[in-house]
Amino acid sequence: MKNFYSKNKIINIINEKYRCKNGRINTYLIKWFKSGKFNKLYKSLWYYTNFLSNNSGITERFYCIINDIKKILKCKKLICNNFVKWHRIKGKYKIYCSKSCCIECTAKSRNIGKIRSEETKEKIRQANLGKKQSKETIEKRVIKLKGQKRSIRSIEWCEKISKSNKGKKHSKETKRKMRLTAIKRIEENNGKVFPHFNKNSIFYFKNFDKENNTKGLYGKNEYQIKKLGYWLDYINFNLKLIIEWDEENHFKNNKLKLKDIQRQKEIENYYPTFKFIRIREKFMELNYV
Ligand SMILES: [Zn+2]
Repeated sequence: MKNFYSKNKIINIINEKYRCKNGRINTYLIKWFKSGKFNKLYKSLWYYTNFLSNNSGITERFYCIINDIKKILKCKKLICNNFVKWHRIKGKYKIYCSKSCCIECTAKSRNIGKIRSEETKEKIRQANLGKKQSKETIEKRVIKLKGQKRSIRSIEWCEKISKSNKGKKHSKETKRKMRLTAIKRIEENNGKVFPHFNKNSIFYFKNFDKENNTKGLYGKNEYQIKKLGYWLDYINFNLKLIIEWDEENHFKNNKLKLKDIQRQKEIENYYPTFKFIRIREKFMELNYV
């Protein structure tokens, strides 16, 4: 087993080195270091999860290793034999293969609640009578209630603030200061701030540099305009070129959001001699796994 890490070793390495602040795995870093000793990690992940399709990513494979999953999971509905899909956003497997399997089950659970007769309720009540709750249980409940109170208060508090702030518009300068303060606060609390990478964009920028025999800053070297508090998806000081990579959440009703338009203006003012290009991910044909 020289060529591969053990499962435990994989778990240790990833937990120690490739965790983002939000708990997710920094798959980008693993891919980046595909060579040398990092390659072994990559190969090991694939080795233990060879039952998955080629499209399965690092997060899914790692999930299988942690949870000791050795074959593709099946729909939880008993008479259904379909496989379940990986839920990218939740970072775990779906429980049912399809909505129809799931709807059936929620309808059933609702009926169970209705069926419980008065007689049954009385039985449950009797069974619980005389049972004393342990100190621990009570404490736990108190803590839970306290938490709820706080959250209720904070909602009121938020409303108050939002009311008092209604009509007020932050100036460009205020917004810039707020951005910088936020970055500073995060950096003080959690260490360095890493911007979010889009792997498709990295693939594109890499090819762009290769085809044009140039070198821009992106991905791991993503450039930040410190004064404005903005990270640029791609900047090339030789070509005097800035590229922004837009995912669909930058659009509303098929139009670029005002926030992004404003941001572009500020950046263009800051680098007046640079060309500013936007790429909409949806329209790029990428065969990147
Ligand atoms: Zn099913």
